[in-house]
Amino acid sequence: MSTVAAIATARGEGGIAIVRVSGGEAERILMGAFRPAGRAGALESHRLYFGRLIDAQGRVIDEVMAVIMRAPKSYTREDVAEIHCHGGRAAAEQALRRVLELGALPAGPGEFTRRAFENGRIDLSEAEAVMGIVSAGSTAALRASVRELEGGVSRFIGACRRALTDLLALVEASNDFPEEIDEPAAARKVACEARSIAGRLLAHTDEKAARIVREGVSVVLAGRPNVGKSSLMNALTGSERAIVTEIPGTTRDVLTESVNLDGIRIDLSDTAGQRAAADKVEMIGVARAKEAQKNADIVLIVLDGSEELTDEDRALLSERDERCIVVLNKDDLAGGADDAEADVRVSARTGEGVDALAAMIRRKAGASALQEGMLTRERHIACAKAAAEALQRAAQAVEDGAPLDMASVDLWDARRLLGEITGEDATESVIDAVFKNFCVGK
Ligand code: GDP
Repeated sequence: MSTVAAIATARGEGGIAIVRVSGGEAERILMGAFRPAGRAGALESHRLYFGRLIDAQGRVIDEVMAVIMRAPKSYTREDVAEIHCHGGRAAAEQALRRVLELGALPAGPGEFTRRAFENGRIDLSEAEAVMGIVSAGSTAALRASVRELEGGVSRFIGACRRALTDLLALVEASNDFPEEIDEPAAARKVACEARSIAGRLLAHTDEKAARIVREGVSVVLAGRPNVGKSSLMNALTGSERAIVTEIPGTTRDVLTESVNLDGIRIDLSDTAGQRAAADKVEMIGVARAKEAQKNADIVLIVLDGSEELTDEDRALLSERDERCIVVLNKDDLAGGADDAEADVRVSARTGEGVDALAAMIRRKAGASALQEGMLTRERHIACAKAAAEALQRAAQAVEDGAPLDMASVDLWDARRLLGEITGEDATESVIDAVFKNFCVGK
């Protein structure tokens, strides 16, 4: 296999930048450009050396640290060399150019991780976890990816696949040695086991929880103008970004800000006041607000605690569903509205009750308790669901009296689908699609 190289660190200025080289030529290429300070002879594996990086004319490119990690104890299981130069584009790019001059080829997106996969160091779900860690936007997403990298998904899927293999062995045995196997008993066992594995798979595919971990929760603040939605959003995000005014109807469009609550990303959207809009621009704002509210995971119905409820408030309350939290704002003012409807009383002005509201949002989002082996990636969920369906089809067929070998097509299919998650049974195009999304240098 060729020797490839890329800048492994992010573009832009920084303390250090790392050029990574992987393949059989890695050590020769490194030693063609790197002059360790005060020593001769071969470098020890896995030891960082200080020295100079030299260009083809013998000029110093940069003072660097360099390491050789000899196969198989490396990220890719090939010889890997890393050159740690000073951050900023110029030094790293010159270092990369030098390495390419010496014979390395530019690495494609995700090529180092792909080599780790192809050399059997990690499976496909673990490779995806690496990408997940690189791109994690919240602690919950990071935790889910780390759990995947530690093999949580592989272990769970591996156990299901082994159970399925045992089942297939039973089916094959009863086909091959019908006189030795009690067919009705085997059929009962196949149907029961297939349903049980399908059930386990489905229990690990909670699409909503998965989406919340990866993408966060959307929360929309709804309410008529001037009840204090913008102020409440500021209180929740701790900033002054939403424009607060005393003129009703100033928040015309949907304005979104993200906060991190217990590691879960919460996207808060302040919407236009929901009243019969007077002008066209405001009408568009109100329409967008309704749309945002329809799609939100959680809707905060904000009421003004200093005034009597209006018809608009009542209209909003009448549409309330299980996604809604009714928030009575302006609790610092002498009360007007009856708070019988309220789930929580707050004052955006003094901050009173805002923590309780945040806790309520967290609870409603309810996604922090992800169990071991829980699938959070769309690709995994799709495969697991398809496998569960195939298993249920097989069980149904057997229960309806079909011969066991009829069921085996679906059982094999389910086994292949599970193998697609871990990569044991993934086609080249599935693997390409996974690595296509990686960045160069990972
Ligand atoms: P929105 O139209 O629903 O976004 O309402 P705003 O956030 O713009 O607030 C309207 C007015 O109510 C502003 O003058 C705020 O200062 C005031 N306001 C908002 N929240 C509170 C609160 O908790 N207590 C008091 N006393 N005034 C508030």
